[in-house]
Amino acid sequence: MQQLNIADSVKELQHTFSTGRTKDLGWRKNQLTQLKLLLTEHEGEFITALHQDLHKSEQEAWTSEIGFLLSDIDHTLKHLSAWAKPRSVSTPLFVQPGKSYLLPEPLGSVLIIGAWNYPLQLVVAPLVAAIAAGNCAIIKPSELSVSTATLLATLIPQYLDNQAYKVVTGAVKETTELLQQRFDHILYTGGEGVAKIVMRAAAEHLTPVTLELGGKCPCIVDSNTDLSVTASRIAWSKWMNAGQTCVAPDYVVVEKAFVDTFVAALTTKIEAFYGSDAKQSPDYGRIINERHFARLANYLHEQNVIYGGQLDASNKYLGPTIVLSPSADSLVMQEEIFGPILVIVTVDKIQQAIELVNSRPKPLALYLYTKNTGLEQQVLQQTSAGNVGINDGMMFMANPNLPFGGVGNSGMGAYHGQFGFDTFSHLKTVLKRSFLFDVALRYPPFNSTKLNWLKKLL
Ligand code: NAD
Repeated sequence: MQQLNIADSVKELQHTFSTGRTKDLGWRKNQLTQLKLLLTEHEGEFITALHQDLHKSEQEAWTSEIGFLLSDIDHTLKHLSAWAKPRSVSTPLFVQPGKSYLLPEPLGSVLIIGAWNYPLQLVVAPLVAAIAAGNCAIIKPSELSVSTATLLATLIPQYLDNQAYKVVTGAVKETTELLQQRFDHILYTGGEGVAKIVMRAAAEHLTPVTLELGGKCPCIVDSNTDLSVTASRIAWSKWMNAGQTCVAPDYVVVEKAFVDTFVAALTTKIEAFYGSDAKQSPDYGRIINERHFARLANYLHEQNVIYGGQLDASNKYLGPTIVLSPSADSLVMQEEIFGPILVIVTVDKIQQAIELVNSRPKPLALYLYTKNTGLEQQVLQQTSAGNVGINDGMMFMANPNLPFGGVGNSGMGAYHGQFGFDTFSHLKTVLKRSFLFDVALRYPPFNSTKLNWLKKLL
C-alpha cells in the first residue's frame, strides 16, 4: 500500500475544511452512513482481521468493535441535528434585552491516534465524533494490529470523502511526522509515555488534546455481594480480549477471610467460560506480540500463582492467571498488567481498600461489587477515577449517554455520544443584544450615581 505524503495530506484536509462542505449537516450524515456501510459490507473481513491480530472471537469482535460502532453511528445519526443546534442559556437582567447561546462549530482538521487492543473501535469511534462535529480527520491506527490497520487504510478511501478523511499507517516515524503538523485537536489513545510525547508536540502549535490513557484499575469485592454474578462479571471483564483492555480489572481487593470463597467462585466461572484448557477455546484471545508476551511472563516470576500461569510463547498464549498477594514493589503491582493476569490483594477490613486505591494514581476505571450502600457511598466519595462500575465490569461503555475518559494519570477529556461531539466542537459563545434600550450607566464619564446603580444591578 502506498504511504500518503503526510504534510500534503494535512494541507489537503485544511483546504477541504476551508471550503465549508464538512459543516453541512446533510453531508456529515451522509459520511456517517457511508461509514456504517463500510462496516456492514466488510464485517467478515474485519472479523478475520481482528482474529489475525488478537485471536478475537466473532462475538467479541462484534460486541466490542463492529456492533459497538454501528450502534454509536446510529445513536449519532439520531441525535446529531439536536446536538448541532444552538444551546440557549439564560441572560441576566443587566444584559437584557438580549439572547445568549452556545453555537457548536467544528474545530477544523483533527488527528486521531489509536492503540492496538481494540484496533477498530479506538480509531473509528473518535472518527464518528469528529465527522459528526463537522471536522476533517486523519486516523493513525496502531502498527501493532497490522491486519486491522491495513483493512482500514484500504476501505476508508473507498467509502468516505477522501479529501476530508485519511488513514496514515506506520509506526513511530510516521506518528512523529504527523505530530509535527498543525492540527486543531489531537485525540490520542495509548500509554502514558507516548502521551507525553503527544502533548509536547501539541504544545508547539497550542493544539488541544484528549488523552485516553490507562493504568491499574482496582476492583473492590465486598463479601456482602451476589458471589456468582460477581464472579461471572469479573471473569468476563478481565479475560475478554485476554485481559488486554484498558478498563479490565487489574487487581481485586478482598478481605482475607473471603479470599478462598472468592477464588473458588472465580475459577469456576473461568472454566465455565473457557474450559479447563483455555488454549483450546475459540473464545480466548492471544497476546498481541512477543514483546508484550515476554513482559507478561516476566510479571509471573517468583509470584504466588494460584491459578493458571500456562505459557506458550510459540502462539503467544497465556492462560487466565491469578496471582495472590504480590509485594507492593513487585512489577505486577507497579505496572499496568494489560494482560490475562489478575492480582488479588487482601485486607483485614474492606474499607482499607479505599486507602490502597488512593495510594496510587487515579485509575481509568474503578469497580465495586457490594450490596452495602454505605460502602458504595464511602467508595464513591473517598476515591477518584475516570469511570466507576458498581456491580458490573465495563458496562458503562455500553451507555452512549455516559462520557468515557480518564482523570489525572489515566487521561484528560472524554468522548462517546454527545461528549464526543462536544470534544471535537468549539462551543462558540454568542450574545445578541437588541438596539431597543441603551442604558448609559456603563459609559464614561463615570460618576458615583452610575457606580451605585451598577453595584445594585450586577
Ligand atoms: P500502542 O503501542 O499501539 O501505541 C499507541 C499509539 O501511539 C500507536 O498508534 C503508536 O503508533 C503510537 N506511538 C507509539 N510510540 C510512539 C512514539 N514514540 N511517538 C509517537 N507515537 C507513538 O499502544 P500502547 O501505548 O501499548 O497502548 C496501551 C495503553 O493504552 C495502555 O496503558 C492502555 O490502558 C491504554 N489504552 C487506553 C484506552 C482508553 O480508551 N483509555 C484504550 C486502549 C488502551
